[in-house]
Amino acid sequence: MTRVRVLETTVYRALSRSGLSDVDYALNPYIGCWHSCTYCYARLYVRNSAISKNWGSVILVKKNIVETLSREVKHLRPGVVGVGTITDAYQPLEAIYSLTRGSIDVLLKEGFRVSIQTKNPLILRDLDLLEEYRDKVDVGLTITTFNSRIAEFIEPRAPPPKARASALYKVSERGIKTWIFYGPIIPSLNDNDSTVDEIIELAKNTGSEILIDRLRVKNFMYKHSHPLHKLISSTRNYEWGNFLSKVLNKCLEAGVKCMEAFTKTKSQRALEEFT
Ligand code: SF4
Repeated sequence: MTRVRVLETTVYRALSRSGLSDVDYALNPYIGCWHSCTYCYARLYVRNSAISKNWGSVILVKKNIVETLSREVKHLRPGVVGVGTITDAYQPLEAIYSLTRGSIDVLLKEGFRVSIQTKNPLILRDLDLLEEYRDKVDVGLTITTFNSRIAEFIEPRAPPPKARASALYKVSERGIKTWIFYGPIIPSLNDNDSTVDEIIELAKNTGSEILIDRLRVKNFMYKHSHPLHKLISSTRNYEWGNFLSKVLNKCLEAGVKCMEAFTKTKSQRALEEFT
């Protein structure tokens, strides 16, 4: 069993300006992520090398983030806060620290909207809060595949896809706006018709939108020891436009709203979020 080293820190700022066009602020109570997805490149922007070099095994906890946020919001114009824009805010440590819940509670009571993206059904713990403020909340579950073998390969410590889909149903049933983040698309791994059809079916059944995203190939993935190393070569000549058109057309036929993720971003990741 992999051990995780937890580092606690205090912060002077809880929110950062977001680089995403439809999000005003970003909130990331944890730096580093237990889920350890092979394609995750958040590690590239983490200043603490112990975290970036041991991705998934060292996690920084902003232990005073709720208190800091409570003071900070008094001086900010309410807007949309992206929760977990860099690292998953509902990773297992949240079950112990409850920093995400505490922060969302502060934000919603102060008139902010929250947009949450996670892979973890732990979010269901907070359904009472999310439901109370459902007009100010949207929740996205990342689902890259329904094949558990592939999921274990690319997202070794994240909850299984079926658990995420089940969480999506439960959030949606409470009248909360939901979406599916279908990405990254890794050629020959999760771009087959059956996966696309299952994603669309899930979106239809839960009234969710779909955000679809390509694989962002980074240098560390070219290392021979990296799990995606062999697959990377197939991304070079990949006809992303063809795949995207196919998915968009299928969504249109099914009456499901679908769009490419990050198309309007000022930058893929706002570096200042890692504070
Ligand atoms: S859940 Fe998100 S932040 Fe965490 S390792 Fe996976 S891709 Fe990275």
